[in-house]
Amino acid sequence: DKQQDLDIPQVNLEQNDKSAEKTSPMTKIIGVRKLKHTNSYTTVPKYGVETRHPDELGKHLADINKWGMDVIKVAEFSNNRALTCVTYTILQERNLLKTFNIPAQTLLTYLTHLEDHYHRDNPYHNAEHAADVTQSTHVLLNAQALENVFTDLEILAAIFACAIHDVDHPGLTNQYLINTGSELAVMYNDESVLENHHLAVAFKLLQEENCDIFVNLSRKQRQTLRKMTIDMVLATDMSKHMSLLADLKTMVETKKVAGSGVLLLDNYTDRIQVLQNMVHCSDLGNPTKPLDIYQKWVNRLMKEFFHQGDMERERNLDISAMCDRHTATVEKSQVGFIDYIVHPLWETWADLVYPDAQHILDTLEYNRDWYQSQISISPSPSFTHTPTENSHFNFIEEEESEGNGVVTINVGVDSG
Ligand code: AMP
Ligand code: MG
Ligand code: ZN
Repeated sequence: DKQQDLDIPQVNLEQNDKSAEKTSPMTKIIGVRKLKHTNSYTTVPKYGVETRHPDELGKHLADINKWGMDVIKVAEFSNNRALTCVTYTILQERNLLKTFNIPAQTLLTYLTHLEDHYHRDNPYHNAEHAADVTQSTHVLLNAQALENVFTDLEILAAIFACAIHDVDHPGLTNQYLINTGSELAVMYNDESVLENHHLAVAFKLLQEENCDIFVNLSRKQRQTLRKMTIDMVLATDMSKHMSLLADLKTMVETKKVAGSGVLLLDNYTDRIQVLQNMVHCSDLGNPTKPLDIYQKWVNRLMKEFFHQGDMERERNLDISAMCDRHTATVEKSQVGFIDYIVHPLWETWADLVYPDAQHILDTLEYNRDWYQSQISISPSPSFTHTPTENSHFNFIEEEESEGNGVVTINVGVDSG
């Protein structure tokens, strides 16, 4: 606003923009591609996607409100359109197309385009992971403790944030992108590189032809939705995990509950904090899913990590934690990841919405014990590794305290 008071020399903006495009490396968001096809549905298919297996797809989508819906099966029966189909089904189920006057065809054009910007060849960070996170958040929003707590706009923002939260993910971690001086790391000055990029790509795609799903929202609603989406996606950066969890614990300790038993969240900070944690929980939700589904996600993630490890080895870089196919122990990594990261988070979430998430916590504990039972007795490297700057979770120190066998880890908490 202050800028407006300054005496700015008049320039021909249009001309300026064009010449800037030719010379400046920062005028384009890398990774954004033009629409390959616009949907010209005269009638919109039932689940938002064309399929030759409507019955099977319908059967799996009937679990849309359940923890443990099989997203991988949904992908199989929807022509690899899990993200489009899950997001469309959830927004329909919640009546949000009507509430916000979202044209169905625009929604499908945007979702298809978004889904095309997830990398199919990433074993883990692909559109199916995004669909999984979106569906998980949809279920968490239905907790009784949160009944009528969030506005429709907040719910729309949470679903949208999940759908976009890893778009155009290159299958490499922030640390790798920073260590190799990648274009993205330069663009975002090493700060939440991927998360900033996911947001930029998703908002840029809204500007493509027939893609503005928020066209009928008021200016104020659009602004609020944009702010909330940014806050949620930036909070998926694992380097924010410890501070996010610390704040959640404080909230649980001072929890205010209305007479009806639902949470009382009376300011933006508290409301967005719960939404950020909800999306983060969903992002770290795979270890809480039925074991067979959890195992599939682990296999995918390890494939992606090992691929990064191979590239690190080739480039003579330190190999990141869990990324060395010659030394990593998948089972120990999972037990460590659950013990230090996932269980503390989900336990706190379960306290916040008590007792709505108890069954989720039970499955997590069952899965943890299963992976523990698979650890062979031979000593081998594990999640509790000697930390390097290549650790995914920014561990700066990790040591076994003498005598009592207690493992202490200190996590590099983001200074911001
Ligand atoms: P995102 O990359 O946005 O999906 O953020 C979640 C991060 O959590 C992933 O990049 C992984 O580093 C980590 N993560 C999620 N699930 C697992 C898992 N089962 N085992 C180990 N790390 C995981
Ligand atoms: Mg991410
Ligand atoms: Zn993710």
